[in-house]
Amino acid sequence: MKKLLTNNPGFPRIGGQRELKRATESYWKGDIGKDKLLKAAADIRKENWTLQAEAGIDLVPSNDFSLYDQVLDTAAMVGAVPERFGWDVGDVGLDLYFRMARGVQEKEAGEGHSAAQAMEMTKWFDTNYHYIVPELDAGQTFKRSTNKPVDEFREALALGVKTKPVLLGPVSFLLLGKSRSAGFSPLSLLGGLLPVYIEVLKDLAEYGAEWVQIDEPVMVTDLGPGELGAFKEAYGALAREVPGLKMLLTFYFGYLGGNLGTALGLPVAGFHFDLLRGERDIPAILGSFPKDAYISLGLVNGRGIWVNDLSRSAAIARKFVAALGEERVMIAPSCSLLHVPISLRNETALPPGVRNMLAFAEEKLDEVVALSSVTGGKGFEDALGKNEALLKEWSENPLINDPAVKKAPAEYSADGGRSPFPVRQKKQREAFGLPLFPTTTIGSFPQTPEVRSLRLKFRRGEMTADEYGEYIRARIREAIALQEELGLDVLVHGEFERNDMVEFFGEMLNGFAVTLGGWVQSYGSRYVKPPIIYGDVSRPSPMTVEVIRYAAALTEKPVKGMLTGPVTILQWSFCREDIPRSEVARQIAFALREEVRDLERAGIRIIQIDEPALREGLPIRKEDWDEYLVWAVEVFHIASGAEKDETQIHTHMCYSEFNDIIESISRLDADVISIETSRSRMELLDAFRDFEYPNEIGPGVYDIHSPLIPGAAQMEELIAKAAEYIPKENLWVNPDCGLKTRSESETKAALGNMVKAARSLRQRFGG
Ligand code: GLN
Ligand code: ZN
Repeated sequence: MKKLLTNNPGFPRIGGQRELKRATESYWKGDIGKDKLLKAAADIRKENWTLQAEAGIDLVPSNDFSLYDQVLDTAAMVGAVPERFGWDVGDVGLDLYFRMARGVQEKEAGEGHSAAQAMEMTKWFDTNYHYIVPELDAGQTFKRSTNKPVDEFREALALGVKTKPVLLGPVSFLLLGKSRSAGFSPLSLLGGLLPVYIEVLKDLAEYGAEWVQIDEPVMVTDLGPGELGAFKEAYGALAREVPGLKMLLTFYFGYLGGNLGTALGLPVAGFHFDLLRGERDIPAILGSFPKDAYISLGLVNGRGIWVNDLSRSAAIARKFVAALGEERVMIAPSCSLLHVPISLRNETALPPGVRNMLAFAEEKLDEVVALSSVTGGKGFEDALGKNEALLKEWSENPLINDPAVKKAPAEYSADGGRSPFPVRQKKQREAFGLPLFPTTTIGSFPQTPEVRSLRLKFRRGEMTADEYGEYIRARIREAIALQEELGLDVLVHGEFERNDMVEFFGEMLNGFAVTLGGWVQSYGSRYVKPPIIYGDVSRPSPMTVEVIRYAAALTEKPVKGMLTGPVTILQWSFCREDIPRSEVARQIAFALREEVRDLERAGIRIIQIDEPALREGLPIRKEDWDEYLVWAVEVFHIASGAEKDETQIHTHMCYSEFNDIIESISRLDADVISIETSRSRMELLDAFRDFEYPNEIGPGVYDIHSPLIPGAAQMEELIAKAAEYIPKENLWVNPDCGLKTRSESETKAALGNMVKAARSLRQRFGG
């Protein structure tokens, strides 16, 4: 029996016990030295390579490891170091690398260096992974400044594994960057960048690399002729200059559509496709695949955690084998496994039946290897039979099918019964009597080490629920007292009881499971543990009412009820794949709607539904936007369906730029939206100039990601500027996001200044 080749685009690099987090954070604190950090990193790489080789992967990746982020690694490799870091010549060493990622504080700048802002971070396509955005300007030159791809290739070779080094391709690198010079196209730098790639590839070839994986995920985005031309130029040059190396051009996260023709015309040895998200490309690929090229079929989902549907994968693989022969077809995950947890081995607390249905990174490697025998053998037929039986049994499992949930949508009427915004606004103004420029916060107050350690104690059973509850209530009392002392107008309870804004709800809703150690890198040393949505979602009992009611009783001022919105819960969980995502979002929305109504009945008059991930969920291709936005808006309407006009619905958004979806945001019809603006201040105001946002809005007046305490005058100016575009009666004053990562003293000082700014605005603009 002939086995197909197996390929893996990338493996999680955080270590099975989150070793990388511990090592990097200890290094940053100065608790361990460089040697220990590098040793920890090398141990993780060794473990990953060995594990993959032993699992039976033929093309094992190297240079997929990163101490922080692979885009930052690329910027370092090509010497794209922003000027403010004061780098002149030589290699980009470890400390400069971390400075680029994390910024330099005045006190740690050291001789010859000054404080410098970290490079910006943004979401990697439509994932919750954040990459460091390259800064590129006209006149930018490139020079090879690290040896990481070669070093790691040799390191693996010494361990007996001949790897396939992974590089982020030159076109994606440039297109993912941002520029400060007006009217400048990053692609104009391609000619200067290619020599660095050529140098690296030549070295790899010299040390004996056979394959190199070049990731060009921008190929699944909307591209014009200029960008497609850049691909031709880049790969023409690389193929010409380094003929001895097999380039595996790797695409993922979507379909190529109209870009496919250009892609398949590039002179490389092989192509990798994401055949889950890019399923619709299959006929065109089959029809026009170059006769002598290799193809890596991304059939095992690198973005999800469910067992593979082997019969689907086998059917596709067999088609390709029939068309291209066995020699040049490889089986692979759809993309790097960076986006899934490492192993199911220690997941002992999942609901019965769920665990059998899951595959994390390690288990996915086994699936890839199993699929490599697709062309023959009883072994594979047996595996296929078992897999079919498992999937069938699961689809009939009462655990995932709840007839009561399936029925709910029919009972919902789209208008929800509330009046149009102007009517609601009038009633709400009478009900609340808030001053002009009302002040509020986004929800969380500092999660001090004490709060976190007590939650851990409670989880471990070292503290009773009563003791923990009383501890949380004490924090709420302090937060309310502080907000009253500072003079804020609409108060919050502080979210001390929440570990995470999604997992908190995941733990209480039916249809969700949480893992013990299913960590996934979000950025740098920050990892998240997304819940798993496996079945129909419903709310067994109220989730937040008791805590909010407690807080509200402590003050005369209104206290906001705090919920995470349906799109964000969906986006930051691993979602079931047997029904459409929009359907899962609807189920979550109905559960939240019950919560909203219970809060209303408990006398809570303002309810905030956070949707920070709304923008992130937007499809990669523009032609798919409408479909998503329609259901995203609808599920918000379902969730926010309060009964009374007087109940004020707030929402909150952050993490991205919203200009291109401002119209959909207005269709959410929240009474008040608070939105991150301080990092993209000017652009958001432009959107308001072009589009008259009808409801009330709080443009964030300060960046909570920074420890800097903003001055009152600075915040006042921001709102004064906003008042040029937005009627002053509609403006709120609030920070950019929740305060959970800030210290108590920073919070107090910053909010004190914010209240001062609002008071001054009231004077300036009159009652
Ligand atoms: N209410 C949440 C908080 O204040 C919102 C967090 C977010 O937008 N990411 O922490
Ligand atoms: Zn936020």
